[in-house]
This record gives sequence, structure tokens and C-alpha cells, in this order.
Amino acid sequence: AVALYIVPTPIGNLADISSRAIEVLNNVSLIACEDTRHSGKLLSHFGIETRKTALHDHNERDRADWIIQKLSNGESVALISDAGTPLISDPGYHLVSAVRSAGYPVSPLPGPCAAITALSASGLPSDRFSFEGFLPSKEKGRLDKLTDLKEDPRTLIFYESPHRIVHSLESILTALGGDRQIVMAREVTKTFETFLSGPVSEVLETVKSDPNQQRGEIVLMCHGYRTAQESEIASEVVNTLKLLADELP
Ligand code: SAM
Repeated sequence: AVALYIVPTPIGNLADISSRAIEVLNNVSLIACEDTRHSGKLLSHFGIETRKTALHDHNERDRADWIIQKLSNGESVALISDAGTPLISDPGYHLVSAVRSAGYPVSPLPGPCAAITALSASGLPSDRFSFEGFLPSKEKGRLDKLTDLKEDPRTLIFYESPHRIVHSLESILTALGGDRQIVMAREVTKTFETFLSGPVSEVLETVKSDPNQQRGEIVLMCHGYRTAQESEIASEVVNTLKLLADELP
């Protein structure tokens, strides 16, 4: 059926592309890419020869009109980004809302997304979470944002760049306190996949003292806010488990 297909691509491991993603990318008449050169490598790896066009934050509105015209001619279009799910800290929002407003179907394929993939293995509560994208690059903005989130009971998920990780961990320590449990997921699905977890004060020390931890792609997750009583119960549970562990043969 004629549609704009939203197609996730791997976040580091090419084997994570789905067979339906390949089928759709082969069958549409146009692939809108965040960066045609970057996606060219992925597409040629899978032998996909479909025509490409660039769609980024600066031309999204113009391109939307052109893509709507294609749909009106009965041609399907796919949207991909450099990695993961389009629209998730990536371009596509204006296109999708414009295509829907014009009355054409938008059909999503499920697939890789760094936030969800990292959360699923983090050990943090996953029943409620808030995806917050990238923290502001300036310290004041970061601290304001984190202060707003301080008493949010949901797990917080942030995207982070390697050259800002130390600054962001420092801001989290300042705004949420050194005892806040965090998980730092790095290079997920890639060779150097690493999960660091513990109170932010400890994770910060580890990251500062090991430059390897300041490389690659990072998802930062913070345990949601716990009342003093909830934290106390949590530490009592830990203590009880420790006592039990000591007693076991
Ligand atoms: N649309 C993508 C998605 O669905 O995950 C995210 C695009 S955003 C511009 C790029 C950020 O995603 C990186 O800075 C990093 O925070 C996160 N990311 C992407 N791939 C990752 C990976 N393999 N491991 C950890 N984080 C990753």
C-alpha cells in the first residue's frame, strides 16, 4: 500500500536490520535519509539501490511537500536516519505530521532504538520512564533541566555524547545528589558494549579515571526519585539479602 514508511536501522550492529526493513527499502521509490552518504554505506551493504534524498532539520519542510507529491502519484517513500529509529532525537517530526495532515498513511516498522535497547538491560525500573533526549550543552541549562526532573519518580533516559559525559555526570551529581543510582550504557550492540552502574558519585569517578569510558555512544539512565522512606526500604532489602548471602553455603 502507498505510505510513508518509518524504518529503523541498526545502532551499531548491521545484523540488527530486519528482513521487512530490507524489503520495504527495496520496494519504495524514494528513501529520505538524514545523510545520504552515511546511509549509502548501509544501503549498499544490503544491495539496496533505491533512489535517495537528504532530509535534515534545515530542509524538512520543503522536502515534505515534495514527498507528499510522490505519495499523491501513488509512490511510497521510506524515512531512515543515520542510526536507530527516525524522529527519536533525529529528523522526521515535521515530515510525519505534514504527511498525516495531507491525509496519507504513515506506517512504522519496529526496530532498533538506543534508549529502549539500553533500558531493557539496565536493571532500572522499566514500568515507567521518561525519555529526555540530549541534556543542554551549557551547564546552567543542564542544571535547570535536571532540577526540574529531580523529583520525577520515573526512570530518566538521556542521550549523551562522549565529549560531554563527564560534565553531564557532574551536573547529575550536583542536581540529583551523589547517591542517585545511574546506569551508563556505552556502545550498545557493538564490540565494546559496556554497562556501568552504581551511585552517580562512583560512576563519575570510574569515568574520570578511565578515558576509554569517555568514548563512543552513550545512553545515561537515572533511577527515578525515591522518597526517604522508599530509599530506606531499598537499603534494608539490600542489607537483608547480604545477610542471607553470608548464611548460604
Ligand atoms: N534515533 C536514534 C535512536 O533511535 O536511538 C538516536 C539518534 S541520536 C542523534 C544519537 C545518540 O543515540 C547518541 O549520541 C547516543 O546517545 C545514542 N546511541 C546511538 N547508538 C548508540 C549505541 N550503540 N549505544 C549507546 N548509545 C547509542
